[in-house]
Amino acid sequence: MTLPSTPIFDPPPPPSQAATPSFLNENLQAYITSPSPRPGTNTPTFNNINLEALLDNTNADMSTTSDQEPANASSLRERLLAARERGNKVNANTNATKDPIEKYTKQPAKKIEIHYSHPTAAFDNIDIDQVCSWESRPGGKLLAHPFGHEVRTPELQSEIKRKVFAAIVEITQSNHIGFYAPKPGASPRETPTVFLIYNLTEMQRQILLNREVWSSKTITFRVTTMEPVRPDYLFSISGFTTKSEDEVKDTVRHTWSGQTPQNFLTTLCQTLPEALHCKVNAILQNITNSLRVKMLDTKDPGDASAPTFNIYVQANIIPDDSLWCLLRNHYASQEYALPFQQPGFTSTDLFHCTICHSIDHPRGLCTFPAIEGWNGPAWRIPGPKRDISDKARNKFLRPKRLNWGDSLVD
Ligand SMILES: [Zn+2]
Repeated sequence: MTLPSTPIFDPPPPPSQAATPSFLNENLQAYITSPSPRPGTNTPTFNNINLEALLDNTNADMSTTSDQEPANASSLRERLLAARERGNKVNANTNATKDPIEKYTKQPAKKIEIHYSHPTAAFDNIDIDQVCSWESRPGGKLLAHPFGHEVRTPELQSEIKRKVFAAIVEITQSNHIGFYAPKPGASPRETPTVFLIYNLTEMQRQILLNREVWSSKTITFRVTTMEPVRPDYLFSISGFTTKSEDEVKDTVRHTWSGQTPQNFLTTLCQTLPEALHCKVNAILQNITNSLRVKMLDTKDPGDASAPTFNIYVQANIIPDDSLWCLLRNHYASQEYALPFQQPGFTSTDLFHCTICHSIDHPRGLCTFPAIEGWNGPAWRIPGPKRDISDKARNKFLRPKRLNWGDSLVD
């Protein structure tokens, strides 16, 4: 018996051809199972890809024979249908690959302004040396301002810090960010309300700043630069029996153009070198021209209408924190009276919103809870006897009409 001249089994292919499908297969799987780092990158799921056909076509492309037709080439219709399907699914295979940013409330169409009590209010209760040491930390830096009244509770600081840190890591997908929490104070009033994020890339800074307010079911916080901002809000006037913002605006303008403010501004100019007089006069005129009045629909006991009028200017044209304070204190100390009425009551600290920490409205008139998909604090502080289900939260989608007792600083 003679052995056949040809072997029973095919000889193994040359090493280059044998290795290619294996290498491609491994790397494709590694690529496909990698989570998508950013929104908008529709990573296809493993099941969506006809890996076998892809590898077969790869073999065909690498073959030395030119007359071989791709055996599993898809029709145009099939490929378009597959593309449609991919477009409707973002990382749909597992929850683990879902983009983490999706769970945060989307930015509202119109930016909601937050006003603090003075330019450096964010750094209140923090040791000045500690703030200065923050400036020397590496990389890009930002401040995180947690929402809610809990941030002022010293015992809750470490938990809030942990949640904000986890959110920043999740949003930036960075393993290199640094995070500082200032030392809690002895009481809520002495407790700092900001954390420092550092070692950020410029892109990470921009991602965080663009949305500004990040709200998930776990934590809600606002991100700002470290640069102190001079607030547009100056003071509030209450006690007027009108609901006309224009009428109050005319009254404020009239008062500001009166003799007392003019004397004050003249004295202010005289303390400066003569060469600066024209410039300062122009700034003061621009501040006056930028006057804005906004009415808050606050109530007295018995649901009686008692509107509050907030006074704003464009504060970024004021070149100095001291000048801002000087002007704010001066204007807030003036008497503002509608024709044939008693002067209203002025105050610079009438409110403190315990949701967003702005001082130009009470919690019940905060506009953040009205944002579609809001995950953060609601208008009412949930108590042990209150129903905090989604159904109950929806009841508060319209701000409660407030009494003065509700409106005061808490
Ligand atoms: Zn608010």
